[in-house]
Amino acid sequence: MAARHLAIIGSGPAGYYTAEAAQKAFGENVRVDIFDSLPVPYGLIRSGVAPDHQSIKGVSRRYEKVALTENVRFVGNICVGRDVQIDELQALYDGVVLATGAPHDRGLDIPGEDLGNVFGSAKFVGWYNGHPQCAALDPDLSGKTAVVIGMGNVALDVARILAKCRAEFEGSDIVSHALDALDTSKIDRIVLLGRRGPHQIMMTPKELGELGHLARAAPHVDRGDLPEESEDALLEPGLRKSVTLLRQFAATPEHIKAEKPIAIEFAFFAQPKALIGEGKVREIEIERTVIERGRAIGTGEIARLPADLVVSCIGYRTAPIPGVPFDERAGRFANDEGRILPGLYCVGWARRGPSGTIGTNRPDGYAVVDLIAEDIAAGSLGPGAKKGREGFDKLAEERGLDIVTFRDWKKIEEAEESAAREGAPREKFTDIEAMIRARGD
Ligand code: NAP
Repeated sequence: MAARHLAIIGSGPAGYYTAEAAQKAFGENVRVDIFDSLPVPYGLIRSGVAPDHQSIKGVSRRYEKVALTENVRFVGNICVGRDVQIDELQALYDGVVLATGAPHDRGLDIPGEDLGNVFGSAKFVGWYNGHPQCAALDPDLSGKTAVVIGMGNVALDVARILAKCRAEFEGSDIVSHALDALDTSKIDRIVLLGRRGPHQIMMTPKELGELGHLARAAPHVDRGDLPEESEDALLEPGLRKSVTLLRQFAATPEHIKAEKPIAIEFAFFAQPKALIGEGKVREIEIERTVIERGRAIGTGEIARLPADLVVSCIGYRTAPIPGVPFDERAGRFANDEGRILPGLYCVGWARRGPSGTIGTNRPDGYAVVDLIAEDIAAGSLGPGAKKGREGFDKLAEERGLDIVTFRDWKKIEEAEESAAREGAPREKFTDIEAMIRARGD
């Protein structure tokens, strides 16, 4: 039987779990090429997961095992849509799997969103994680109040990173430009803004609990915002734990909280209405809400908060690819459980939107490979005579494309590791040219 050829676009968790699943399902009868527009692999593991959450980043060792097998290949520095088109890949590979994640910020769609020092979390997180497209963001941290919009784990990441002191980043791989900027930050009030209430937060307990153990910041929750304790019994266990933490924060005596110079305030029942400032943001206008059947309803009561920096952490959208059906409302590819059409699939955030943990992408990867196996069995992917990587290499040569291989990445990685601050695992390159130079000849 001729080997089947798969192209996976995106080398983040969804991409590598799909490759792992393909190996398990097809063994020697598959060749997988994993494309990435960056010369470095691992997507969100490298540039999304918080730099002080190194244990989560450790999962890349599992992906490396997959990457180092004969029938899987990393094809870095190749941007699908620019260097090669989707239909060209479809002509070369039996299956093309879009594992491109959701790299764009969802918009707040309120006036003032384009003011200076207002960022979406994709950009802000990319800044402290050294993503080449965000490294130059240069947020102004000279004001006193940061408003972080959203009550999910990304909002928690952003608030925690803004609150930490240099010593608390020991062992992290936060890039030096961000560490230095945070070191001189004057922010002493971080407001987490939620349009709904404590029972509707998306924060998970482990991550929320970290706010209670910061060196110079304390979480502040207004007791009056919390529902009757008896109502917690109706919550699913994870959320119940998170709400219990909020209750503990609310019960912390003022004099204990006052020992920490930075306040992380939970502002519930407040939906953003406008950002105000001249050139740069200065205030945020909010409307008080009430919850009706789980939804936030504006009451018409308007207030203003100071806001010297605004980071909106309200979710992400997948980047459309010309020629691939896109669900505009959901902000991801239009698909049926991962199948866009026979031969073209999507997986991870590109399939389901930005939800779940890194681990959620594992069953997703396995499920999409099941679909591919089904389509092969049904004959929808043809007889298996496509050219695969050999065909792609020919096309790359004709176009003069500069492929970065996994072996090249290992050299880049070595250079990042040897440039690390003391105690840090690596100092990431933050521009593509530097990455490419580091692979040597
Ligand atoms: P999320 O969990 O969906 O939270 C988004 C938040 O934004 C919600 O509180 C939502 O409120 C709010 N929001 C949405 N639209 C809004 C608007 N127009 N105005 C005001 N608020 C708005 O998304 P996320 O925090 O970006 O996280 C994405 C995924 O990554 C999640 O599955 C998360 O758990 C995961 N993640 C995990 C970790 C970790 O495990 N350490 C770290 C980071 C991210 P409503 O609920 O009212 O819509």
